Amino acid sequence: MSASPANTTPSPAAHPDPDAPSGTDPGAGARSGLAAAVARRRTFAIISHPDAGKTTLTEKLLLFGGAIQLAGTVKARRSSRHATSDWMEVEKQRGISVTSSVMQFDYAGHTINLLDTPGHEDFSEDTYRVLTAVDAAVMVIDAAKGVEAQTLKLLEVCRLRNTPIITFVNKLDREVRAPLSLLEEIESALKIECAPISWPIGMGKSFRGVYHLLEDRLLRFTAGAEKRTAVEEIHGLDNPKLDELFPAEVASLRSDVGLIREASSPFERGLFLAGRQSPVFFGSGINNFGVQEVLQALVDWAPAPQPRDGGSRVIKPTEPDFSGFVFKIQANMDPKHRDRIAFFRLCSGQYQPGMKARHLRSGREMKLGNALTFMANERVTSTGAVAGDIIGIYNHGQLQIGDTLSMGEALVFRGIPYFAPELFRAARPRDPMKSKQLQKGLKELGEEGAIQVFSARQGAQILLGAVGRLQFEIVAHRLSAEYNVDAAYDNVDIYTARWLTFPDDATRRKFEKDEAMSLAEDVDGNPVFLSGNKYNLKLTLERWPTVGFHATREHGERLGA
Ligand code: GDP
Repeated sequence: MSASPANTTPSPAAHPDPDAPSGTDPGAGARSGLAAAVARRRTFAIISHPDAGKTTLTEKLLLFGGAIQLAGTVKARRSSRHATSDWMEVEKQRGISVTSSVMQFDYAGHTINLLDTPGHEDFSEDTYRVLTAVDAAVMVIDAAKGVEAQTLKLLEVCRLRNTPIITFVNKLDREVRAPLSLLEEIESALKIECAPISWPIGMGKSFRGVYHLLEDRLLRFTAGAEKRTAVEEIHGLDNPKLDELFPAEVASLRSDVGLIREASSPFERGLFLAGRQSPVFFGSGINNFGVQEVLQALVDWAPAPQPRDGGSRVIKPTEPDFSGFVFKIQANMDPKHRDRIAFFRLCSGQYQPGMKARHLRSGREMKLGNALTFMANERVTSTGAVAGDIIGIYNHGQLQIGDTLSMGEALVFRGIPYFAPELFRAARPRDPMKSKQLQKGLKELGEEGAIQVFSARQGAQILLGAVGRLQFEIVAHRLSAEYNVDAAYDNVDIYTARWLTFPDDATRRKFEKDEAMSLAEDVDGNPVFLSGNKYNLKLTLERWPTVGFHATREHGERLGA
């Protein structure tokens, strides 16, 4: 893996804004330089169900951004997915496979941070948490399949923060579903209004292109133009060239465009930014078709880094003091040293190499020596970063998911939750003499956020909860490598978990008595209700109308009563 000494991250300090007002205030230039640098940032993730075309779209976005030259770069990564043990080997051989966790590139004068949402078999709680660190998301829908399960789940997570969503309906070069029925499905299943920006003309073998409703031009699709990035454009619906090129289809093209303009909601940026309306683009990722429009929408419409709830107050991204939070930990670089990289999203100020910051959970000062910036193909030593950017901070386990760093102010960034697990196992040591090690290992891995650990109130069972299967395998691997204990997993009959809040002590005591069999505690000692099935959860909810059942919990949060 190559690591160049510098990156291209524009450092506001190094490149002060030329338009900065020159006055007597010596800090004014730097401040407006920072503001300009922040305004140029776009930090987003792609959400989709496996096989909808996320990897392909990622690759094409990087291609348009000039970050990669060759198609196949991202693909190669995908085909190297293996069963866990191999996967771990691969991780080790590569040093660390974080290269494509965050991809930074420049496009149209903007710095784009594209955060990967692990899908397929590496789907995990990280996938959800990545979404807490972005300001916008691109949702890819397979036009043959419509809204699928994983998209639904990921969109729910975006909803927690009303993240603006741009929709890309993919694979129009195939025989797919009628575009109008797809929009209706997105609107009803995802409860978000759709504002089509482009409209497809035909599909599959007779896919002719898309008509850009706002810019009044047809982007012509030519099959087999995979590598081509320039697309022929025909301006105006009345353009005689359309009659010439598509004599058979032109009449329906004109009436369809007229109809959809009348029937659909007009795009309103305010609604988009509020997470209530999604601009929709149609295209074919693999054919580079419709991709640039998505990138342009990100630049033109998606928000720059937004203010964040810092607990005691709202932190603006343009504030000069550095702050931010950890949303992901990548471990196992060197198991013996508990060496790991914390993925850190800057919320304000700027990172400068060698700077010191306060780690608020421990109250200690931390030197941020050689933080990393993640480019499309490589990770490099960061020369500077501003709000919206992601840096990688080396540490030996001090940093946990949800941790805040600041210049000293007591902040706690909210909205980086734990998510109710969907898969459960009971864990035990293969060697009964090693139960202490197992407990210690699980406690630490649980605190780090690799998996959720619960202890049942009755009996001594240690329960593990995850949202992706691979989490269990990684934890087993790390228990063995870092704690020298072989863990065995047993299946358990648990459907989901809900964190509990009680209106008063009397209700809590009664609940604890009546529902004792279903109670557990999380790593922070919070009460959790473990439900055997959907029906049981529904009944329990009805039985205890004053008790709060929560599907998410903030990191480090102690729940009341
Ligand atoms: P991911 O699982 O969401 O990352 O999906 P991939 O990008 O790996 O795509 C899944 C499959 O769909 C691959 O075989 C792609 O080649 C294919 N694919 C992606 N985009 C298109 C498209 O626009 N048209 C067609 N026909 N196939 C596509």
